Amino acid sequence: MKFNPSRYAEMEYRRCGLSGLKLPAISLGLWHNFGDVDDENVYRKTLHSAFDAGITHFDLANNYGPPPGSAETNFGKLLHTDFKKHRDELIISTKAGYTMWDGPYGDWGSKKYLVSSLDQSLRRMKLEYVDIFYHHRPDPETPLEETMTALDLIVRQGKALYVGLSNYRREEAAKAFKILKKLGTPCLIHQPKYSMFERWVEDGLLELLEKEGVGCIPFSPLAQGLLTNKYLKGIPRNSRAAKKHGFLQKDQITKERLQQVQQLNTLAVERGQTLAQMALAWLLKDPGVTSVLVGASSSAQLLDSVGCLKNSTFSKEELSRIGRILRE
Ligand code: NDP
Repeated sequence: MKFNPSRYAEMEYRRCGLSGLKLPAISLGLWHNFGDVDDENVYRKTLHSAFDAGITHFDLANNYGPPPGSAETNFGKLLHTDFKKHRDELIISTKAGYTMWDGPYGDWGSKKYLVSSLDQSLRRMKLEYVDIFYHHRPDPETPLEETMTALDLIVRQGKALYVGLSNYRREEAAKAFKILKKLGTPCLIHQPKYSMFERWVEDGLLELLEKEGVGCIPFSPLAQGLLTNKYLKGIPRNSRAAKKHGFLQKDQITKERLQQVQQLNTLAVERGQTLAQMALAWLLKDPGVTSVLVGASSSAQLLDSVGCLKNSTFSKEELSRIGRILRE
């Protein structure tokens, strides 16, 4: 397999917090579109296009599919056929924290669950280690010390190089960072839901990440496809909102939302880019955002998203116009 030799010149790489690791400004997530229900020819092409465009970071979790686990298995298969020579050029992440198997040890944040789950992920992907292992969501019952000690243990065992947290609110993230630092395994990165339509991170989390030197990789930056022009004329047949297993619910596509999308789309066209590109550029304008973690159901979509790097600055007027649209 031969990949684009100028891929690294074409992508922008950003330092992840105060660590030694750089990530591409655009990373690809495998939550949807890489399961056994999906078409291998399509997702294989998406992965190739991603790597050709300089995307070095692929984000997974134990439960991605459907069925759960199948995204890791499918990715692992292609990794060993198409990307075998390139393992050292890739940053592969996985996570545990949501329901993965029955019984008391297949969910949340115990050491038992995290260690067993990562072992299963490594077997599915046929890897010796992942680059980043995340706790997927905070566990209100397990002591934070136990969960963080499990992350530290996993790094010491050589099963992950770095650790991250996802969906942790400011207060709990601050406590977790402190414990991890004391253990000698600082948190590399935080993965929150963040887009023009979901801005809770602006209420203190981003500030904390900057202060602690932790990177930030927003997930669902396109609000699962809402922040594109695809729903302006109804719900397309193959879209996430139309799929039974898709996480975007039809009732999230309200008249009010579509009015905002329409106005944002008008501005994007004036800027000479697609709405998807504008929504991603809007996140990347913040230097505290290391990378945006997009999903894509085709190679064309992914390449459209990567095109956001061609115009990622905003005038004051544009920003206040976006602010007004989002407040409506
Ligand atoms: P996005 O918000 O980027 O949504 C992706 C969807 O948007 C695609 O499947 C496609 O929808 C549509 N789309 C993408 N690009 C374009 C484009 N250029 N033009 C038109 N439509 C486009 O992200 P996801 O919700 O998929 O999340 C991204 C990643 O974040 C996940 O894969 C996962 O790695 C991570 N994640 C993490 C979570 C966590 O708890 N830590 C939770 C959720 C996600 P369609 O399929 O309709 O074509």
